Formats: sequence, structure tokens, C-alpha cells
Amino acid sequence: MQILDGLLVSRATKEELKIKVAQLVTEGKKVPHLAAILVGNNGASETYVGAKVKACEEIGFKSTLIRLEAEISEFKLLSIIEDLNNDLDIDGILVQLPLPKHISDEKVINTIHPSKDVDGFHPVNVGKMVQGLDTFIPATPYGIMLMLEHYKIDTKGKHAVVIGRSNIVGRPMSILLSQAANPGNCTVTITHSHTHNLEELCRNADIIVAALGKPEFVKANMVKDGAIVIDVGITRVADSSKKSGFALKGDVDFKEVAPKCSFITPVPGGVGPMTIAALMKNTYKACLDKN
Ligand code: NAD
Repeated sequence: MQILDGLLVSRATKEELKIKVAQLVTEGKKVPHLAAILVGNNGASETYVGAKVKACEEIGFKSTLIRLEAEISEFKLLSIIEDLNNDLDIDGILVQLPLPKHISDEKVINTIHPSKDVDGFHPVNVGKMVQGLDTFIPATPYGIMLMLEHYKIDTKGKHAVVIGRSNIVGRPMSILLSQAANPGNCTVTITHSHTHNLEELCRNADIIVAALGKPEFVKANMVKDGAIVIDVGITRVADSSKKSGFALKGDVDFKEVAPKCSFITPVPGGVGPMTIAALMKNTYKACLDKN
């Protein structure tokens, strides 16, 4: 069993970007600038946005964090996004999800200009991804693809079972794994909360991507020997032994599943850091595309 070390691969990816940014500076060119919008004060969202801003600093990108109160109107938020769309110095815009209930995710996503949509959620970019065209790929699936590529995992012809069909993880993941590329060329089964025979499907999988948000859901009896298991889940579970008062749990019962796998991602230190590295790659691309 080999651990897919997301921390290690994300560090290497960020190092590559750091060198490229230094080159831009040497050439007197503009460095990438990411604007991140955080609405309200959800603890997990604070952590994620903080990590994204920190990654920008490490690499040498500019970043602007816009904190807005949870009560902000949808209209006001959309007008802030419009201003960022029109700001020539901003290359990438991300709005941390989830948003308060009175704000439509869909309207927010559709308002970000596709050329600055570094999360890859805008329908134009999703459409391009489906057609295999050059675009921004949603950061979590993109990060997973980068990790598969880094470890030279041969996915061709393998049966991949993706658990979860969200627009940000499961659905794009299923599309990328089925694309005619390497990594890719998988036969994909996408599953969700209404899937009847999930355990059996998983037992037949060469690759399992667990993205359902239910801690330790995937057990050893659902995994065949030698499978590749990618754990996307991150759930905060109360843990009084931790200073923070919680532990982070993946969707896979790592202790019992890991011994059966050929490759597995840990939580934390697997998909999470790769998501950030992929976002940084998208931000760099947004800047280059403009120049
Ligand atoms: P979501 O709630 O939007 O979607 C969950 C999906 O799982 C749904 O499609 C649902 O149908 C499916 N599902 C729920 N119960 C199921 C069951 N019993 N069997 C099969 N399918 C079931 O969640 P999301 O935004 O896709 O996130 C999933 C998990 O990934 C969460 O824990 C989230 O925190 C985590 N996440 C991690 C990263 C990262 O960077 N590591 C990024 C995004 C999301």
C-alpha cells in the first residue's frame, strides 16, 4: 500500500509556480492576483479561505480577501463581483461556498466572468470541461487528477466508482475520469444517495472516489484488494482530545481500508492540499490567458 501524499505533491506544484512567478517578475510582467470573497464567519470556510490566501503568499501571487457580513444582500454581493470582473488587476475570483441561504449560489457563480472563474463552476467552463476543451477545471477534481498524474497511476480501462454527484466534486470527477486522456480512460459509475447497490458497485471498483461527506462511510468490506482509494471527504467531528475541539474525518475508514489498497489518500494531507494547489494553477492560468 502506498500513501498518495497530497502535501508533498502540492508543495512541488507550488514550488513550480513560485519559479514561474519569479520569472514573470524578472520580465516585468504582472503577477497573478486572486480575489477571495468570504461571506459570514463559518469556521471551516475561514480555514479554507485562509489556506488559499496563505498559498498565494507562499507562491508570490497577490491576493485580496474580501470579508462580508452574513446579512449582506444578494444584490450587493453580485455588484461586488461585477466590480471585480471589471478590475483589470484581478485575475481570479473565488466566492467561498456555502453561502447564506438568502443568496443564490447559482446567481453568484453565473455572475463571475468565465475568464476569472478559477473555481471552474461557471456553466461556460463546465461546458468546456465536458467537451475536453481548455478551461478552468474545478479545483478538487483537478487536484485529484494532478495527484494521479504525479504518481503515474495508470487509470486506463479501470472501473472507477465515484460516490457523490455534486457539481463541485463528484460530477466533474466522473467526467474527468472518463475523458480520453491520461489520467482518464476509465469506465465510470457515478453513484449518489439513491443508488441501491452501492456496496456491490464499490467491491467491483478498481478506483473509488469517495465524496459524500459522511465520515468513515467506506468500510473494508466495500473495497477489493489492490483498489485505489481517493478520499475527498472532510467532516469536523467533535474530539475533546484536540485543542480545536474537533478532528477531521474523511469518508473512508482509513484504518481498515488502507491495508487492502494499492494507493490511498489520507485525511488530512491528501485531497485537501491538492485542491489548493490546483486553485493556484488555475489562478496562474487566468493571469497568463489575459497577457
Ligand atoms: P454535497 O453534500 O454537495 O454532495 C454529496 C453527494 O453525496 C450528493 O451527491 C449525495 O447524493 C451523495 N450521497 C450522500 N449520501 C450518500 C450515500 N449514502 N451514498 C451515496 N451517495 C451519497 O458534498 P460535496 O460538496 O461534494 O462534498 C463532499 C465531501 O467532500 C464533503 O465532506 C466536503 O467537505 C468534502 N470536500 C472536500 C474538499 C477538499 O478539498 N478535500 C473539497 C470539496 C469538498
